[in-house]
Amino acid sequence: PVNVDVDYRQLLNEAMAAARPVLGTGRVADYIPALASADPEAFGMALATVGGEVHGVGDWDRPFSVQSISKLFTLALALAHGGDALWKRVGREPSGNPFNSLIQLETEHGIPRNPFINAGALVVTDALHTVTGDALGAVLDFVRAESGNPLVAVDPEVAFSESQHGHRNAALAHFIAHFGNLHNPVDTVLEHYYAHCAMVASCRDLALVGGLLARHGVRADGTRLLSRSDAKRVNAVLLTCGTYDAAGEFAYRVGLPGKSGVGGGILAIVPGRGALCAWSPALDPSGNSVGATTALDSFTTLSDWSVF
Ligand code: GLN
Repeated sequence: PVNVDVDYRQLLNEAMAAARPVLGTGRVADYIPALASADPEAFGMALATVGGEVHGVGDWDRPFSVQSISKLFTLALALAHGGDALWKRVGREPSGNPFNSLIQLETEHGIPRNPFINAGALVVTDALHTVTGDALGAVLDFVRAESGNPLVAVDPEVAFSESQHGHRNAALAHFIAHFGNLHNPVDTVLEHYYAHCAMVASCRDLALVGGLLARHGVRADGTRLLSRSDAKRVNAVLLTCGTYDAAGEFAYRVGLPGKSGVGGGILAIVPGRGALCAWSPALDPSGNSVGATTALDSFTTLSDWSVF
């Protein structure tokens, strides 16, 4: 049911205009110095359709810190290579708590509530490392291949900064390890987790990578990575958990499965149609970009691009 005469560029321009009044609203992530220097008013947005069209507005080609959007890629790869056994080690219910919360881990015996909070993403990184021998390498190869951009890389300053300020993540990893739910050394898991969060990529790159889920699990080269059923499941978990304790609000406003990162990016999937990535560094209290959410809200309101 794609509207063939839809003018994507105009829709993107209108989404950018809608976001303009809120750009700079909220706070740039400042838990590490390397992110605190981002321009709070920067904005970019890209759209990659399943038909191969790519459009963008603003700074859509400017690389930014991918952060937790990478958790979507590790999940897809861990499921593709390791299968359903992963779901014995991580749940798939919204947590209702902040992304870096430790609270539920104790009562739930080291089984994180879902793969997108930090606790769950650490388990997913561990699982991916076990099946591939190199979690970071697997994610980097995948993102480079899907985006067609061999320059996607890890920002070593951000990765180092994460490890220097990562007491909370280290606490989560040790707590999970205490329950026997990490199979690799804690330091190895943290190192690969920090590194994949510290990847830098643009809205264009990430929208193209999101094509995997828009095509129901088929990669850019036409090979299948995820079964159609697994792609449906990943999209469902994205919708319910991808924006943490604001997932209800995000579903209400945007109506799409989406994954945010504290670098200010949000990658949203329109199954069967395409993927959208919006970026602006200022965040709401849940750690989701205010400008990106507003732009996606506008885009799905103006177009018929929603799962609802
Ligand atoms: N690297 C960040 C952290 O572990 C990722 C958090 C995020 O983007 N929500 O805290």
